[in-house]
Amino acid sequence: MKKHNYSAGPCILPQEVFEKSAQAILDFNHSGLSILEISHRSKDFVAVMEEARALVLELLGLEGKGYQALFLQGGASLEFLMVPYNLMNINGKAAYLDTGTWANNAIKEAKLFGETVIVASSKDQNYNHIPVDYTIPEDADYFHCTSNNTIFGTQMKSFPKTNVPVVCDMSSDIFSRTLDFTQFDLIYAGAQKNMGAAGATLVVVKEEILGKTGRTIPSILDYQKHIKAESMYNTPSVFAVYTCLLTLQWLKKQGGIAAIEKINEAKANLLYSEIDRNTLFKGTSAVADRSFMNATFLLENPELQESFDKMWKEAGISGITGHRSVGGYRASMYNALPMESVQVLVDVMREFESVFS
Ligand code: PMP
Repeated sequence: MKKHNYSAGPCILPQEVFEKSAQAILDFNHSGLSILEISHRSKDFVAVMEEARALVLELLGLEGKGYQALFLQGGASLEFLMVPYNLMNINGKAAYLDTGTWANNAIKEAKLFGETVIVASSKDQNYNHIPVDYTIPEDADYFHCTSNNTIFGTQMKSFPKTNVPVVCDMSSDIFSRTLDFTQFDLIYAGAQKNMGAAGATLVVVKEEILGKTGRTIPSILDYQKHIKAESMYNTPSVFAVYTCLLTLQWLKKQGGIAAIEKINEAKANLLYSEIDRNTLFKGTSAVADRSFMNATFLLENPELQESFDKMWKEAGISGITGHRSVGGYRASMYNALPMESVQVLVDVMREFESVFS
């Protein structure tokens, strides 16, 4: 039986993506060949890459606006390094908002390149909210933020207005909600949440911000080289990119980001209402900053953990244990998680209350 999969990533993808990608491993496009055994320069795969790159820009509303979409490798973690390499001037400076573990990892890499100003941090309150009222230095080469904090369950609901280029790690909420994506100059995201199989990293970059640092950038880390090579500078992660294409096609069929956003809001509202109503549970993040992708919560009485774990496992739920660094529970409700799965979890929480309160 298919589990109700709340994994934080890699995570649930649409069923048709599993089926079509499995088929492509056996026989891709009725070619008599597996997608795993053809050249990435073959006509069929070049078409996959081209369509995936175009769909990204179409779904984000960035077509014809000077942006390029790239499918790279190395995960979002390599982007922590590629961003300063490509955007921080020699003797320049970058501004970062510290909202969690991943933001921190990005900051660590930026510090290797030059002055890295942390404009605000919620670390002293265990990252339970998104800081407000901070100033971005006018002379920063860019400002970096993390739209959704996968581990702590917080999400930026708005983004600062600034004249410096804005870089955003959207690994765990890309394609989940409508935003004016033109406010970002560079967006990156590991594929393995709302996009596809692990192994591909999406980078969407406004071309005009590149090539200004005075640095010599190793070829494989140079966004301009990847753009020139149409995201085929070296062998791309062909299968992961194909799963991204299938997921983007699925999203377009659902009605795009605006349509999935409504479902995501309904799923998140259902679960958060239960967390707030049920006296046995409490949410961990500030209500205004709650993530619609990753809901983090605790048992009021930790001694009941074993009983609760038994109950949700018996209901066919998988993957709601919190990140190892914070404990508690985390229900990740990415685009492909159906509403019915959220209802199953809510029903378990109600049943748990009826037995233990
Ligand atoms: N940023 C965020 C917001 C994440 O959630 C993650 C991984 N969960 C990463 C970065 C790191 O991504 P990767 O494992 O692809 O390097």
